[in-house]
Amino acid sequence: MEKSLIIKNLHVEVEGKKILKGVNLEVKQGEVHCIMGPNGSGKSTLAKVIMGHPKYKVIAGEIWFGGQNILELTPDERARMGVFLAFQYPQEIAGVNFLQYLTTIYNIHLRQMDPGVKAMKSFKFKRMVQPYLEELRMDPDFLNRYLNEGFSGGEKKKAEILQLKLIKPNLAMLDETDSGLDVDALRIVAEGVKGMLSSEMGALVVTHYRRILDYIEPDYVHMMYDGQIVKSGGCELAHMLEEIGYEWITADTTV
Ligand code: ADP
Ligand code: MG
Repeated sequence: MEKSLIIKNLHVEVEGKKILKGVNLEVKQGEVHCIMGPNGSGKSTLAKVIMGHPKYKVIAGEIWFGGQNILELTPDERARMGVFLAFQYPQEIAGVNFLQYLTTIYNIHLRQMDPGVKAMKSFKFKRMVQPYLEELRMDPDFLNRYLNEGFSGGEKKKAEILQLKLIKPNLAMLDETDSGLDVDALRIVAEGVKGMLSSEMGALVVTHYRRILDYIEPDYVHMMYDGQIVKSGGCELAHMLEEIGYEWITADTTV
């Protein structure tokens, strides 16, 4: 089954305020799309609504994934279909041990692939995850800590990418995974993502800056403004936006 994402005329409201005003987007399996745009234009809202965040009300439009209308599905069901979102602001969860958490999500993923498979024990999982930790330059001590508690901004983002690598989703959405990272962390995170891109995985990369796109070369760049995609193009659009900023864009800009 082809795992493409198709969004048609999507209108979304949060707390009674209209945020998305007719978004159309198609991310075919294996394609990398980037969404740029000023703060408050609705980029995170789009990612959250694709994931099924209950706070964001779809008032019109459709979201299809893998040939199925996913609007009626819970976030959990969407995750099981292979939709993954790395949050812009990962939550700290006190009392949830990182190793335990990763082992649990990994075992859910394994069972998804093969319902008869035996769950992997955490000591075995710990061995398996070592190369990923090394690749992301994460201290193995992380595994003993609580999820995101006291993690620096960069460490939280790396923890999200680690989950991405373990789950190998069909659609990876990264919401400003590059924000707040220093040059080294950005390179590690971006190369980590780049290494995963394949004909199996589509990606939707939300970013404010062009620099991550130097690593993850997107097939398409979309410009979001006031709840709509007002312009679409290739990498050259990202370069242009960086040079001239966003001020020139208005909702009337022709697509
Ligand atoms: P972006 O990611 O492009 O910066 P967002 O999608 O986060 O934009 O936000 C778009 C608009 O929606 C903003 O005006 C923001 O304040 C509003 N918004 C987003 N989430 C919520 C929420 N949970 N409650 C109230 N307003 C929200
Ligand atoms: Mg955002």
